[in-house]
Amino acid sequence: MKRVYNFSAGPSMMPEPVLKRAAAEMLDYQGSGQSVMEMSHRSKIFEGIISSAESLLREVMNIPDNYKVLFLQGGASSQFAMVPLNLMTKNKKADFVLTGQWATKAYKEAARYGTANVVASSKDKTFSYIPDLDPQTFSKYADYFHICLNNTIYGTKFHTLPETGDVPLVADVSSCILSEPIDVSKFGLLYAGAQKNMAPAGLTVVIIREDLIGHAMEVTPTMFNYQTHADNNSMFNTPPCYSIYMCMLVLDWLKNTIGGLEEMKKINEKKAGILYNFLDNSKLFKGTVVPKDRSLMNIPFVTGSEELDAKFVKEAEEHGFVNIKGHRSVGGMRASIYNAMPVEGVEKLVDFMAAFEKKNG
Ligand code: PMP
Repeated sequence: MKRVYNFSAGPSMMPEPVLKRAAAEMLDYQGSGQSVMEMSHRSKIFEGIISSAESLLREVMNIPDNYKVLFLQGGASSQFAMVPLNLMTKNKKADFVLTGQWATKAYKEAARYGTANVVASSKDKTFSYIPDLDPQTFSKYADYFHICLNNTIYGTKFHTLPETGDVPLVADVSSCILSEPIDVSKFGLLYAGAQKNMAPAGLTVVIIREDLIGHAMEVTPTMFNYQTHADNNSMFNTPPCYSIYMCMLVLDWLKNTIGGLEEMKKINEKKAGILYNFLDNSKLFKGTVVPKDRSLMNIPFVTGSEELDAKFVKEAEEHGFVNIKGHRSVGGMRASIYNAMPVEGVEKLVDFMAAFEKKNG
């Protein structure tokens, strides 16, 4: 067996010990004589899994008691609609910072339900930076203020949060959740598709301050109302059982093997540092993001020649560095180095890049 270094933006690598444990428990989960895939979501044993996933998430992320954790489906993309349906209901307006495709999708979807105001955008430079925010441009009495905390496609991240006062800050954290500590109390709502740092695809996690639940628009479909899921401990209907189980294993690994999010952050900073340092000193490869806004998780770079980019992607793949091609909308390369990417994977990639530069520079 030869496992590759997978730099995919998501779904992405899972920690190897987690995969091994899942494999060992596949046919007979803890003496139940069945796989987690096969068991009723109403069984005692699955109740144990979902409640341990929730309590581990609360512990690892230090989630305050006045927040609900919801295990949903539909991807982060469903949250683009679910957030306005539930929150854009008092003054029917919300503010948006456009820092990439996902942030723009959230904005466009919200505009179907109320007044969506763009407070800033970095589209002028292909979203390669996080725009400065001027509170003068913020709406008065917005129902919420939306950001995409880490922009997967462009490799930018908010290093400081907007000061929104009483307006709840809502963040898409799909590509940075669990990568470092985050002060949940600064947010009204956080949402994430799980397929990068949490679990296989199929699970969407929402962390919502309790007072924001229960104000959905009349037309909101039952399944799109946070109240439905909060009232039923995410068991209104069949939840994505296996992804929730895998999420529990990932959280257990984060807590007990890594030692929590402070430790995870150190490892992620080390990995990103290795690659950024190489890019900053390379004569061939260049990072595409303004240094102060760089992401810890997604690192886009180019050679400046489309031909060389394609050659690099092809040769990288042949050497076991897969899915390193940039997003189809921006080209070039992108290394997504989520929690499960080992330091060694980044070191080997950089060695490979140096050798490529020698031959082609
Ligand atoms: N937001 C961000 C930041 C993402 O990276 C992605 C997916 N890559 C999405 C939203 C869309 O997520 P999903 O496919 O779960 O709907």
